[in-house]
Amino acid sequence: MADELGKSWYTKYRPATMEEYSGPKIKDIVSKRFTKRSNMPHVIMIHGSRGCGKTTFARIISKYYLCQNPAEDGTPCEECEMCQSINEILIGGESSQVECPGVTELDATIMNGKEAIQEVLDEALQSPIYSDFKVLIVDECHMISNAGQNSMLKIIEDIPSHLVVIFATTDPQKVLQTIKSRCQLTLEARKQSVKDMADRLMQISQMEGLTVSKEALEIIARKGNRVPRECINLLEGIAKTYDGEVTVDNVREHLGGVSSELYMEYFTAANKSLSAILIFIKKLKTEDVKLNEFVSGLMAFALDSMYIKHGISLEDYPVDYVKAVKELFDIYGSSDFDMLLQILEYLSNNLTAEDEAKNELLLTTTAMRISKIQLLANGLAKEQSEAITENKISLYEHSQKLKVNNADLAEQMKMDVTPADLSESFDGVTQVINTQGLLDSIQLPKIDIAEEEEDNTQNMRMSLGNEIDEFFDNV
Ligand SMILES: [Zn+2]
Repeated sequence: MADELGKSWYTKYRPATMEEYSGPKIKDIVSKRFTKRSNMPHVIMIHGSRGCGKTTFARIISKYYLCQNPAEDGTPCEECEMCQSINEILIGGESSQVECPGVTELDATIMNGKEAIQEVLDEALQSPIYSDFKVLIVDECHMISNAGQNSMLKIIEDIPSHLVVIFATTDPQKVLQTIKSRCQLTLEARKQSVKDMADRLMQISQMEGLTVSKEALEIIARKGNRVPRECINLLEGIAKTYDGEVTVDNVREHLGGVSSELYMEYFTAANKSLSAILIFIKKLKTEDVKLNEFVSGLMAFALDSMYIKHGISLEDYPVDYVKAVKELFDIYGSSDFDMLLQILEYLSNNLTAEDEAKNELLLTTTAMRISKIQLLANGLAKEQSEAITENKISLYEHSQKLKVNNADLAEQMKMDVTPADLSESFDGVTQVINTQGLLDSIQLPKIDIAEEEEDNTQNMRMSLGNEIDEFFDNV
């Protein structure tokens, strides 16, 4: 166990086998495609959001190619030299700098130029000495330059029988279509559900001998966005701060979060009456809830609620919660949500770090605006269409004025600045390369238009510039 000391839990509990790596669909594909070596793909693409275990999956897959003693169904033995070095160096290791025989990992966030890529490819093309295969894992492959991706393409178009390339990316849109079309197997690493993530956290908690509650782990799973790395790091942080006691209270205290019940109360009060709002804010103060903290969670709560109302990601939340949120936001249509988010954005932009009295006032007026949301949203729609019409009119007027101004100015130019004036001013100048500097020092005639001065001055300068250029052209 000594070598386990100092390792983060995320590394320590990283899944090492396909069995530990969750996702029944992926397991199914693996059992179909990785049983017979002759049937195994040589170019694989794994995509999915950050922290979903794409690299881990690629490393587990490498064992299917490199294991010296696989079981009948292709499952790696986990005991041979190859399996062990992949497990120890890559899967269980903290640093990716150490070489692992048979597997080359290329992190495209660091190495993405054409030459560096070519060097790795040249090495990969040479036949392996100790095994039948060589595995090249290209992490974040969308970061590779187009030239680099084209070098890759040449290799995978006619891939040698010993070589396996596993691409991993968070952004498959940025990968050349020609590369994608040559992948013989494409997999998506998906986020787990809150329940699955909490189950995984429960296993780890048991192995670490923690005192935990299921509810507390579900809060962590949600807060960590169901991303294993985030969630396990959160669990570790909380367990170490609270001496192994991962309770709902400790989790909430650690995350600094305000409970969603409180947000629901806020919305209920807002839609009830001014006195309900005032009572609620008094409650926040007596419970010592920091208004800053309250507001930062309020926006997230509103966004989450919008998802729930539209039936998205419902599996992330407890059934009762979904029901309560749907009831609470039942009165809002989509333009109301638009208004709501604008109101909250205003609140969060105007919040101060030190002035609690101002924050209290903001929270009160925000609640009052929330109570009038439908009125405001209707007003907003009307206001928007009026604004568009007004804009069109003023643009038209502006362009008309400009036409007149330019004509006037051209007339004035002819009167005010005669060729004689100019040749006098620039006496001795034999060559004029650029008139730009001169232009700035010329006093513009006053034109009586109060607004749009800035714009017109620019336009006048340009028009003057043309006149002067023309003049010099004709000298
Ligand atoms: Zn093995």
